[in-house]
Amino acid sequence: MASLPPQSVDAVVIGAGPVGLFQVFQLGLHGIAAHVIDALPHVGGQCAELYPDKPIYDIPGVPHCTGRSLVQQLRQQIAPFAPALHLGQQVATLQRMPEGGFAVGTSAGLALHARSVFIAAGVGAFVPRALKLEGLEAHLGRQLHYHPDPATLPAHAEGQHVVVHGGDEPAVAAALACADAGAASVVLLHRRDAFQAEPALLERLQARRDAGSIRVVAAQITGQETASQRLVALQLLDPEGQPQRLPLDQLIVCLGISPRLGPIADWGLALDRKQLAVDTAQFQTSERGIYAVGDINTYPGKRKLILCGFHEATLAAFGAAELLTGAPVALQYTTTSTRLHERLGAAGQGVAAG
Ligand SMILES: Cc1cc2nc3c(=O)[nH]c(=O)nc-3n(C[C@H](O)[C@H](O)[C@H](O)COP(=O)(O)OP(=O)(O)OC[C@H]3O[C@@H](n4cnc5c(N)ncnc54)[C@H](O)[C@@H]3O)c2cc1C
Repeated sequence: MASLPPQSVDAVVIGAGPVGLFQVFQLGLHGIAAHVIDALPHVGGQCAELYPDKPIYDIPGVPHCTGRSLVQQLRQQIAPFAPALHLGQQVATLQRMPEGGFAVGTSAGLALHARSVFIAAGVGAFVPRALKLEGLEAHLGRQLHYHPDPATLPAHAEGQHVVVHGGDEPAVAAALACADAGAASVVLLHRRDAFQAEPALLERLQARRDAGSIRVVAAQITGQETASQRLVALQLLDPEGQPQRLPLDQLIVCLGISPRLGPIADWGLALDRKQLAVDTAQFQTSERGIYAVGDINTYPGKRKLILCGFHEATLAAFGAAELLTGAPVALQYTTTSTRLHERLGAAGQGVAAG
């Protein structure tokens, strides 16, 4: 794992769900640039991961939108502030530094020294479900890939014998993408020959099966074979209970993504039933300079709603602005403040799409 020298920044937002994104906007209004870190390879948190096509009816001023379109609008809203996005990596460590501020470290080796931290971690980091086989994790990143970013699939697949493991839409889509990318062979491996995906994807899968460019194997995985430090095959048990061997170059595992609270519980912050306890004036945690907003926090009357998270992010940004400047911060309206218009790059004319 590469270790980068720490970069000093004013604000780190942990979590790029709707509340983390709006936190970036509110910080931007105060002239505070943010670095955003998320375990997922994309922004949007639960809205993007759990219900991208479902309607939301309770965002103020938006009669209805989908999870995906809300995230798109938030991205557009924060575009003027050009946050640094660090995606596909989990924040593992958060420690107060003796000289002040906080050391933030990620699973990918990113190290930031932040003057303020905003934990917008929702119900936890969305991480892929692992395939538990002895010795398999040694191949992670080279021959083993969990829910890879679709953009990276051609690099894994071209000219390779690929096995995709899973029964839901991400597995079907990955198998199709590998076949499209010129894999030497593609096997879609699931415990039974039945897949959950959009009808259009299932039709494409059937066409690929008919053409012989994707083979479906129904079996349970019982073990793996490594030779000369390379993953060379999976050991299987077929539906008749017979052992089988499946050679491969690349293994793509799509067994679902689920949230885990993970290391947040180890950061020494006051917790109340696995939620971060905050005050309701600034949504600050038990540690001065660390704020918690959105689904991850708790206080009397807390409701896990997006609009409540937006309110929390607004007051947390005021709190941090006062902490960083050491002076009271006056309220300004986006409607009338020239300074805010300058920060928005809007000059009162509306903001360019990002
Ligand atoms: C099916 C469904 C429908 C819903 N409908 C509505 C609705 O109609 N209206 C409404 O207001 N709310 C609704 N909600 C709730 C709403 O989605 C949540 O309140 C909202 O997503 C919370 O936003 P958040 O940014 O706090 O957290 P999240 O959306 O959970 O995002 C948190 C992000 O933080 C990341 N993360 C966590 N820990 C780490 C770490 N250590 N390192 C790196 N990244 C980390 C996660 O990967 C995730 O992307 C719904 C929820 C569900 C499941």
